[in-house]
This record gives sequence, C-alpha cells and structure tokens, in this order.
Amino acid sequence: NYLDAQAKKGKSIGFVPTMGALHQGHISLIEACKKENSITVSSIFVNPAQFNDPKDFNKYPVTIEQDIEMLETAGCDALLLPSVVEIYPDGQPRQHYELGHLENLLEGKFRPGHFQGVCMVMHRLLDIVKPGNLYLGQKDCQQCMVIIKLIELIGMNGSVKVNICPTLREPDGLAMSSRNLRLNEEERKRAATIFMTLCFIKDNLDKKNINQLLEQAIAMLNKKGFKVDYAIIVNAKTLEPIEVFNKDQKMVALIAAFINEIRLIDNLPLN
Ligand code: AMP
Repeated sequence: NYLDAQAKKGKSIGFVPTMGALHQGHISLIEACKKENSITVSSIFVNPAQFNDPKDFNKYPVTIEQDIEMLETAGCDALLLPSVVEIYPDGQPRQHYELGHLENLLEGKFRPGHFQGVCMVMHRLLDIVKPGNLYLGQKDCQQCMVIIKLIELIGMNGSVKVNICPTLREPDGLAMSSRNLRLNEEERKRAATIFMTLCFIKDNLDKKNINQLLEQAIAMLNKKGFKVDYAIIVNAKTLEPIEVFNKDQKMVALIAAFINEIRLIDNLPLN
C-alpha cells in the first residue's frame, strides 16, 4: 500500500534486495539508490530456495536489529521483511526459469538449483516492490547476469533498470560479505588470500600462459589451506572460460573457495 501510494504520486522507486547481516557493501548500494530515486526500498529475506546446502542456510548470519539501525542511518525509506510463507504461499506451483548456459556454469555448476532459487525470490520481490531501478553488487557477478536474464524472461525489461555497483572491500582487500561474520580470527586473516590471488592474476595476465597462471593461482590458494571450487578467467559478457589472452574482450577473474566449511566468492574485472 505504501509503495502503491508513492508510485501514484509519481515517485521513483529504487530497490536493494539483500539477505541481511548488512555491511558497508550493502549500504553502498543503498547510497547509490538514494542518489537516483525518490524512494529507497530494501528487503531482508534469507531465501531458503537458493541454498543448496542446508548447513549453510542454518548458519547464515542474522543480525536484524543492527541491520534496521544501519538502514535507518543510511536513510533507507522502507524495509520489506517478509516471512517465508509470505514469499512462498503454500501450494503455489514452482515455475522453472530458462536461464540457458548461465545456469550450468561456475556457481550454477557448484551449487545446483541455486539460480532457480534466486529467480524465484527475485520474481516475487520485483512483483511486490515494482521498482524502476534495481541495485545489485558486482561481487555476485553471475547473479547480476541471471537477474538481468530473469527480468527479460518475465517481461519487466521495459520497466526495471539494473544498476551494478562496485565491490566494497576491507582494508586488506577481502570483499565484504555477510559470510565473513562466520570466519574466526585466523580464518579472517587468511581470507584476504582470495583478493591477493585475483590481483596476482590481473598483474600477470599478459606475462604468462593462462593455464599456467591459473594453476599457480590455485596453488597459492591451496598453500593457504583453501579448497578451491574454481579459479578462472572468463569472458565478462558470456562467462565462458578464456584460454587464450585477447585484450580486446572484456575479461573477469573469478574465485570460489572454501576456508574450512565457509565458502567465499570474489571476482575482479581484468580490463
Ligand atoms: P546478499 O545480502 O549477500 O544477498 O547481497 C545483497 C546485495 O548486496 C547483492 O546485490 C550483492 O551483490 C551486494 N553485495 C554483497 N557484498 C557486496 C560488496 N562487498 N560490495 C558491494 N555489493 C555487495
């Protein structure tokens, strides 16, 4: 009702969906949204449908009081904080989203069903909030591409503009992430290796053969005790792996790796 009334008054609505345990990365999206819209809406919903590992879901950090304070301080106008049944009413049939090759690569390959879950929740949230602008983080670069595809599939591409915001990092380079709250002191120090490895890839891109470079990158991570799902250089538009360096195409290096049982992801645009 609140948003319908705002829309009737002609106010532009910007939307920042999250799973909570907010950090400055999320707040940077709120700030970008506030600059460009009359009304800034955020949502906090730890979406069970996108967790392929129930342990990861059960241990996902929840800091709701602090989140609300951070949103208020940042000047967010409205928070959508739904329950699971409000998002997934009982008995509602599940839709399948045709995501094509995006679904089977990288995160899609290592987290089966994950992107269908992301699409389910985003479809529902977009229907409720009906934003003109949507703010997403480059940190989850494949997720951004999936959501752009979803918006096309559900015919909202004429009404929602997707804005992709840069990754905010801790002083040692670690990408801010809600999952960082699960790291103990020793793991937290080691976690910066992911960004160091991405920088190593970027710095040596034109000096080495790509396969050798990635082998070295994986060895750097293994040496620090990471279990690596992938360390890869891909075409930024298609996410297809790049085997031969070509400076004319936009490339991004991506890493997904476990530090003990906590899975972290990060990426770095290379050119
Ligand atoms: P999450 O709560 O992890 O689902 O993230 C909500 C939104 O914040 C997504 O669009 C993320 O890509 C974005 N985000 C997460 N971490 C960062 C970060 N370090 N910098 C900028 N945006 C981020």
